[in-house]
Amino acid sequence: MTALYLHIPFCLGKCRYCSFQSIAAGEKLYGPYVAALTLELTRLAEIHAAINRSSKLSTLFVGGGTPTCLPVELLQGVIHSSLAFFGAEPDVEISVEANPGTVDVAYLEALLEAGVNRLSLGVQSFDDRELGRIGRLHDAQEACSAIKAAVSAGFRNINLDLMYGLPGQTPFSWRYSLEKGLMFHPAHLSLYQLTVEVDTPFFALAANNTLCLPEEEAILEMDEITTQLCSTAGLHQYETSNYAGYGHQCRHNINYWLNNDYLAAGTSAVSCQHGVRERRIADPAEYIRRIHVQQSVIIETEQLSLERSFRETVIMGLRMVQGVSRRTLYERYAIDVQEYYGSTVEKLVNFGFIEFTATHLRITAKGRPLANQIMAELV
Ligand code: SF4
Repeated sequence: MTALYLHIPFCLGKCRYCSFQSIAAGEKLYGPYVAALTLELTRLAEIHAAINRSSKLSTLFVGGGTPTCLPVELLQGVIHSSLAFFGAEPDVEISVEANPGTVDVAYLEALLEAGVNRLSLGVQSFDDRELGRIGRLHDAQEACSAIKAAVSAGFRNINLDLMYGLPGQTPFSWRYSLEKGLMFHPAHLSLYQLTVEVDTPFFALAANNTLCLPEEEAILEMDEITTQLCSTAGLHQYETSNYAGYGHQCRHNINYWLNNDYLAAGTSAVSCQHGVRERRIADPAEYIRRIHVQQSVIIETEQLSLERSFRETVIMGLRMVQGVSRRTLYERYAIDVQEYYGSTVEKLVNFGFIEFTATHLRITAKGRPLANQIMAELV
């Protein structure tokens, strides 16, 4: 399997909670950036062909930032280049992230024409006051229009991103947003709890005690609402934050959670191949300059030890509801997970937070609300 991530570091504005690498008002760089990205892809494809001759793309994920800030011809171009340079499996999954307010039917038809078969829309909420508080540039009406445009363009595999735990949000308003999203019958939902990240406007507000977030009890109620509404809608949780209808799990992200190799290109993008993790430079102008003078854009290289890789595979795998396969772990690392973690795992099993099935180690329903603490024990 070959998975490729492309990062598009532009947004129309910065949301107040966001720590993703992106810049607003970067229009002048759109063309030069895509040209540089295409050059990086050329070089990457040459190396890939030399090492993994017959491995074509199984998944391509164009994320950001807001990839749909770009004129559609540029986005089509970079997708065409990726498919031409690497080749593609017949059932390749090609995802693009989009934001309401940046797409219409014609734009989305052009993406379909380029081969995109999965669209991920950043809706976040259907409550205009919540959208305003978190600094989104679109309102609920624009979100509905974007979803309708995607359906009428012909997308059948649509993901909606929604957020809970937002300032001023209540279980009632979360139920409203989730119900509204489900009315569009999305194939996939990504439901993220807000986390306050450093170097964001929300971080500064939290430091001053002026960020009013829902209490833990309200969050637990929101979790219950999520479980109830998603299961009624036939969307099954398969990862901490992700729910899908049958056959619509995101294969690109599953590859990350299995801790398999992945390729990447673009600013800040991280790739991991044969135990070597590489991070690219964040600044788009510097990225463009380096690509043109044939200077490396890699700013951090990490050689993962076998043990480090094993532990990461356990942690990432536990994010998935099915857990991590004991047999795969043993075949890959020659380490038995039960023996390796010994009393740590035994304690978590005794508390009923994790369990061994015949094939997997997984977090139980009781342990899921404490997933982060459980993983911290096993890091
Ligand atoms: S649109 Fe997405 S990537 Fe851009 S600032 Fe908002 S959350 Fe961050």
